[in-house]
Amino acid sequence: MKWLPFELHTHTPHSDGTHTLLEMCIKARELGLSGIALTDHNTTSGMIDAAAATEETGISIIPGLEWTTFYGHMLTLGVPYSEWRDLGPSDIHKGIERVHEQGGIVGIAHPFSLGSPICTGCHWEYVVKDWNDIDYMEVWHETLPPMRNHNAPAFEQWTSLLNQGYRISATAGRDWHRSSEEDDLPAYTYLGLENEDSMPSTESVVDAISSGRICVSMGPRLELQIERGVNRYGIGDRVEVETKG
Ligand SMILES: [Zn+2]
Ligand SMILES: [Zn+2]
Repeated sequence: MKWLPFELHTHTPHSDGTHTLLEMCIKARELGLSGIALTDHNTTSGMIDAAAATEETGISIIPGLEWTTFYGHMLTLGVPYSEWRDLGPSDIHKGIERVHEQGGIVGIAHPFSLGSPICTGCHWEYVVKDWNDIDYMEVWHETLPPMRNHNAPAFEQWTSLLNQGYRISATAGRDWHRSSEEDDLPAYTYLGLENEDSMPSTESVVDAISSGRICVSMGPRLELQIERGVNRYGIGDRVEVETKG
């Protein structure tokens, strides 16, 4: 298992970012990141520059999209494209199914950001009928995430869902639009990747997030190991509990 830091929420001029994909990857390398997910608003056209940016910087680029709608922002990862334009406030699951069918995953972006009139659609309002369909939630949004008011309720909701038995991964998403020297500190999303030899692939990133081999940090990576009898468990593993009848 190899643990590598990623940034999972980014934009370029293909939507409303101001840095090119190559400029962002150069900055990502300076920050010590191994990869990014490109999640432009409602377009995947930025992926046209991905191979060249990876070749020049060594940064892995995972294809994604941020469905930017009136009822919330949903991140998709690992699929070249998924249709969202026909989704109404009560049928998000129809869109999620299209992503899952293609082997991708979905995550709710900044669920408690202010909505209209500050930022139309930024607050999550879709009806989630089955939380098993949600693969991850962006519990940390923007730089310096522990200091942002809208992240506390996101963390609380995620914790509450875990306590109800749902397995949903928590991510940090910088929502990276521009690179400058004065940027505040971002958080890192560390992913536990199974293929240790090669460049992180889209499949290995999707697998790490959907399996819960993930941790977010403002600095070092969290290490956690549980020993129970002869068994050892790490982040993402399932620990079976015997219930006494
Ligand atoms: Zn957004
Ligand atoms: Zn965004």
